[in-house]
Formats: sequence, structure tokens, C-alpha cells
Amino acid sequence: MKKVKDIINSTNVARAVVALAIVLAIIAVVLLITRHNHNDGASVLSGDAAHTSVVVVAAGDTLSNLLIDQGFSNADVLEIAKVLKSDADITSLRAERDKIEFVRTSPDAPVDKIVIIPSPWRRVEITCDDAGKWLCSAQDIEPDRRAVYRAGEIRDGDSFYLAGARAGIPDGILAEVYDLLAFEMDFERDVRAGQHFSVLYEENFSNGKKVENGRVLAVQFEALRGNVKMYRFKKSDDKVGYYDENGNGAIKSLKRTPINNARVTSSFSTSRKHPVLGYTRAHKGVDFRASTGTPIPAAGAGRVVARGYNNGHGNYIKLRHNASYETLYAHMSRFAKGVVVGTTVKQGQTIGYVGSTGLSTGPHLHYEIIKDGKHVNPMTVKLPAISNLGKEDKARFLEYRQVLDAGMDLLSTHPDWFIQLP
Ligand SMILES: [Zn+2]
Repeated sequence: MKKVKDIINSTNVARAVVALAIVLAIIAVVLLITRHNHNDGASVLSGDAAHTSVVVVAAGDTLSNLLIDQGFSNADVLEIAKVLKSDADITSLRAERDKIEFVRTSPDAPVDKIVIIPSPWRRVEITCDDAGKWLCSAQDIEPDRRAVYRAGEIRDGDSFYLAGARAGIPDGILAEVYDLLAFEMDFERDVRAGQHFSVLYEENFSNGKKVENGRVLAVQFEALRGNVKMYRFKKSDDKVGYYDENGNGAIKSLKRTPINNARVTSSFSTSRKHPVLGYTRAHKGVDFRASTGTPIPAAGAGRVVARGYNNGHGNYIKLRHNASYETLYAHMSRFAKGVVVGTTVKQGQTIGYVGSTGLSTGPHLHYEIIKDGKHVNPMTVKLPAISNLGKEDKARFLEYRQVLDAGMDLLSTHPDWFIQLP
């Protein structure tokens, strides 16, 4: 196990230059071990004689009520609340989430230790010293992180979401994967029956039990216009990003499809018959069908340079992203609160809501990308990456990518295995 950890952790390029066959062999051994490695978890009891009662906080419970139930005096309750606030930043309990353990040396003894577990990754202990003073210590618990692999195939009539769910990819992970792929793919035109995709992502365990899904580590999709691959990677400055197989930044400064999973109802074209006007004119953007009120996220970080109404666009917003790029969003039912000319927005921030104002036959988002003053096709324009790798990071990335690829190859034939992450 240690060897794989070293490779994945390594900042030392020389040490990371390992033949693929060796990596594979090591991972295979690790997987065989981890598969049978069941962790029963640390005991919370301080000794055989310790007696622990566990309380899951319910609606209406307060710390003082719970403590008084356990036999604490008012003075103790005040003291404990004080150290909890100052040393662990806990001022209230959350119903159905927080768990409290009361530990006694014998069933009739007073409580001499309180353990509050506000999350699977944090443990707060309150103990009483010989002088009767309450002390508090908070400890962060590192999750046991495991990489798991899911693969699927697009079938006739499938959406990517449907196929992903069938492959056993959890909703949250699927949404993230979609967001990532949307930088590279046009889901309308690139997705066909028979295509394969796969995802490597983390599951976080605590005491041998799965608590939550973690981060997406790698994504592959056999799109019509070529295989799309993306890998999560931490640069030497600790910044994390996603990169394609050659180490080019995969996160683009703009999104091709601002609204996830929305069907394209009209593509970019230099001439089309206008559905309302009836005559032929250029369609300078892409239309996405979505119901009225669907939030419209900014395609990229930028500044609002126009917000208003005109007969064609209805309610619209225009964002400027950098010296070259602008985007426009039309037919909104309304604008997001506080988004006015001059507002700085983040990528993904809601700027308004889908509607059918202006020249429109039904609720949809009309989306334009303008590059150096000229309208371009959002589905095909080559978009600039947010971050690229320097020379050293790139070399390190390419080694790391081989390890992930090898891991995915192996997991693809052993879907019930996982890779123990450092
Ligand atoms: Zn349109």
C-alpha cells in the first residue's frame, strides 16, 4: 500500500518514473489487500470499565437540557458551554446530526468525559481535570478515501444522466461529471448510442462505513468528435484543476451550455427562418429549452455590461469576461436580485431566470458568445482554459495520469475493487 501512496504523492519526478507494468502490479496487490481490509474503527471507550451512553440530538434538544439530564449542575453547564465556544467554536447543537457521548467510569459515577461528534470528520472531547476544571479539545479526523470506478454505455434514447444513473454513478457525482464534460462536449451532437464512459471518484469512509462521496478524480467519454479525458490534479502551488490527457487545462473560462442537461432547440446558424418573424435571418446564438424560472448561471466569471429589455431579446443580460469574450442571455422572465450593470459575477452564479420575453415562441434561453465583437458558435468555438500547467507540473501530471489510467484499467475488470488513496 505504501508504495502506491508514494507514487501518487510524489513530487519527485525521478522517483515517479515507474514502468506501467510495475505500477499495475503494485496496485493489484494493494487492491487485493484493501478489498479484505475491514476496519472496525476506534473504540470510544477509555477502558473496559468505562460506560458510555450515546445521545443523538433531537429537535428541541439544547446542550443545557441534555447536560442537566445527565446530572450536571448549572455551574458545570455554563462552564462547559464556555469552553465549547472558545475552544471548539460550538455554540449550538444540530438536531438529527450531532451525536454526544457521555462517558462514566461506572454506571453510577458522574460523567467525566463528553464527546461531541459534529461531523464524521471532527471529534470534540470535554474532560474534567482533578481540580474540577472543564477542558475541551477538538480534533479533525482524516477520511479514509477510496477511489471507485463506474463505467457505462449510452443506449438508444438515453440521456447521459439516464445512462450514468444506470451505471451506478451517484447523482452528485454525475452532476459534477456533466459539468466537467460540458466544457469539452456538446451533449446534443456528441452523444450517441453505443458510446462508453467511465468515472473514477472518491468515497469517504469513517470507521469502515461510507459517509459520503468525495471528489471526481477522472472522467472519460468516447464522444463522437473524439475521446474526452479529464483528470483532477494538484499543482505544486496546491491549486487543484482538471486537465486533459496532455495536461492542457480542461476547465474553460466559458461554458458552452450554461444550463445543464437542457435540450438545444435551435443551433447557431448564419441563416434560419425565424419562428416568429417568419423570414430568414441569422441565428447568432443557441437556444436551450428550459421551463420558466429555471436559473440561468453565468457561463464564466465576468462583469455585467448590459441589462435591459428590447423587442427581440426581451429581458437580457450581457457579460464581459475578458478583453476578447462576451456572452449574452435573452428572453429572461426576470433578473437575479442584485445583478445590475457593473456587478461582478462568478462562473455558475445565477444571473437571471428562463422566460419567454421578447420575440419568443416559448420559454427558452437564447445564449450568445461574442469573440472580439463577432458572434461565434458556442458549440464549436475553441474556448480558453482557465489554468494550464507549467513545465514541471506537466511532467508530474503525465506520470500521475499514467497511474490513474492504470488504476482505471484494472478497476474496469474488477468493479468491486477500489484504490486506497493516501
Ligand atoms: Zn435564439
